[in-house]
Amino acid sequence: MAEKRQITVATGDGIGPEIMEATLHILEQAGAKIEPEFIDVGEKVYLTGNSTGIPQEAWDSLRRTKVLLKAPITTPQGGGYKSLNVTIRTAMGLYANVRPCVSYHPVIENKHPDMDLVIVRENEEDLYSGIEHQQTPDVVQSLKLISRPGSERIIRHAFEYARQNNRKKVSCLVKDNIMKLSDGLFHQVFKEIAAEYPDIESNSYIVDIGMARIADSPEEFDVIVTLNLYGDIASDIAAQIAGSVGLAGSANIGDEIAMFEAIHGSAPDIAGKGIANPSGLLHGAIMMLVHIGQPEAAEKIHNAWLKTIEDGMLTGDMAKGKEAVGTKEFAHAVVERLGQSPSTLEPVTYSKEPMEEAEKNIRPNYIPERELDGTDVFLFNNTLTIDEIAEKLERAAGSNHEFVMMTNRGVKVYPNGFSETFLSDHWRCRFQPVEGVKETQTEIRELLTRIESEDLDWIKIENLYRFDGKIAYSLAQGQ
Ligand code: NAD
Repeated sequence: MAEKRQITVATGDGIGPEIMEATLHILEQAGAKIEPEFIDVGEKVYLTGNSTGIPQEAWDSLRRTKVLLKAPITTPQGGGYKSLNVTIRTAMGLYANVRPCVSYHPVIENKHPDMDLVIVRENEEDLYSGIEHQQTPDVVQSLKLISRPGSERIIRHAFEYARQNNRKKVSCLVKDNIMKLSDGLFHQVFKEIAAEYPDIESNSYIVDIGMARIADSPEEFDVIVTLNLYGDIASDIAAQIAGSVGLAGSANIGDEIAMFEAIHGSAPDIAGKGIANPSGLLHGAIMMLVHIGQPEAAEKIHNAWLKTIEDGMLTGDMAKGKEAVGTKEFAHAVVERLGQSPSTLEPVTYSKEPMEEAEKNIRPNYIPERELDGTDVFLFNNTLTIDEIAEKLERAAGSNHEFVMMTNRGVKVYPNGFSETFLSDHWRCRFQPVEGVKETQTEIRELLTRIESEDLDWIKIENLYRFDGKIAYSLAQGQ
C-alpha cells in the first residue's frame, strides 16, 4: 500500500469535533491514504491570551504537512481577536479561494435546479491589502492594489481547475469600464491566459450585471474568476441561492500550503446535539483529496454522498421538516454507499491528471521601460476658492512644469469646472513637464518646495509614469 500522506487537522469549536469525526470516518472507510496530525486552534487558544488563535505548534505542523483540514472555529466575542482564517490565508500566501456552489435539486428544494458553479476568488490583493489613510477631515482612502503576477496566478488557477474538473467555461467579473488600470489589468491578463486554453470557453461580465445574473440565472455560469472583493460578495450570493450553507466546502490554495474547510461557522446553537450536517466539511475534504493527488478516493466519497442524499438520508438542515438523521447515522449511510453512484443526481468524475502549477508567468523576464511623466500633488484645503488655489499653483509650477488641471474627488474643477460640483477638502493637482524638459524626482521635489512657499498644504503625491511609452495613469474628463 502506498505511504499515507500526513495532513494537519483542526477539529475546531462548536459542532467542529462532531463533523470532523464523521468526515474522517468516511475518509478512512473510503481508503483515503491520510494520516491526521491533530492541532488545537481557535477558541481555547484565543482564551489563553493568544490573539491569533494559532499556537506555534500549529504553524510547525502546517509547515511540515502543507495541508490543513479545518473545522469551523468560534471567534470569541469582544475586541482584540484576529480572524484565524485571515491570519492563515495571508501569512501562508493562500492566494486562491475556491468555492463550488451546487444545487442538489430535486433532493434538496432549490429555486435554481441547474446551478453548478465554482467561484475562484483572488485572496490576497485588491482592497484587502488594508492600506488605508485619512489625510483630511473630509476624506479617507483605501488603496486597491492589483498585480500582474497575482492576476496571472489566480486566473491560471481558474483555468487549470476547469480543466481538472471537466468544466467547460471560465467567466471573468471586472469593472474595467470604470477602473481602467486596475480591473483593466485583470481583464487583460484574463484574455491573455484564456488564449492558452482554447479547449475552455471564456467570457467576461461587468461585475454589476455579472452579479445580477448569478443571482437570477446561476445556471449560465461554470467557473467564475474574479478579484478579492467581488469574489467575496459573489461567493456569498452563490452559496445563499444554492440554499446550501451547511453543504458547501471551500479551499484556500497557496504555492506551498493549502487549507480546506466548510463555509459555515461553528453553529454553537446545535453543538453537542449530534444533529449537525458534516457535508460542508466533507466537501472541503473531497477537495483536499484531489489536491493531494487522491482523486479516486475523492470521486468514491463524492458519489457515495450524492447517493446518500438521493436515498433520502438527510440531516435536519437538509430535510427541512421531513424525517432527518443525525450526524453519525448520516456518516454511516455514506460509508454504506461507498462504491455506488447516484441515479437522479449527476455522478461526478475527477481527472486523474495532476493539476499544473499555476506559477508559469506570461512574461517572466520582461521589464517594461518606465518613464516619469509628471506628478499629481494632493492638497488639503478648506478655506481658499478654486481660483485662489489655481493662482497659487500656476505660480508654483515655475518654468519647468505646467499646472495641467485640478480635480476634487476625481471630478475636474479647474480649468473649466462646473459650479454645481460638490467640493470636499481634498484636491488632486496635476503637473507635467513643459515641452523640452525631462521630468525628474529633483524637479518634483523643487515643485513641492514652491507649493509649500505658496502656503499650500500638500498631503501626498502620486507620480505619473508611462510604461513602454504608454500613459499609465487615469486622465480626468477632457484631458
Ligand atoms: P454558523 O454558520 O455557525 O450558523 C448559522 C446557522 O446555520 C445556525 O442556525 C446553525 O445552526 C446553522 N448551521 C451551520 N452549519 C450547520 C451544519 N453543518 N449543520 C446544520 N446546521 C448548521 O454562523 P454563525 O452562527 O454566524 O457563527 C457562529 C460562529 O462561527 C461564530 O463564532 C463565527 O465567528 C464562527 N464562524 C467561523 C467560520 C470558520 O471557521 N470558517 C465561518 C463562519 C463563522
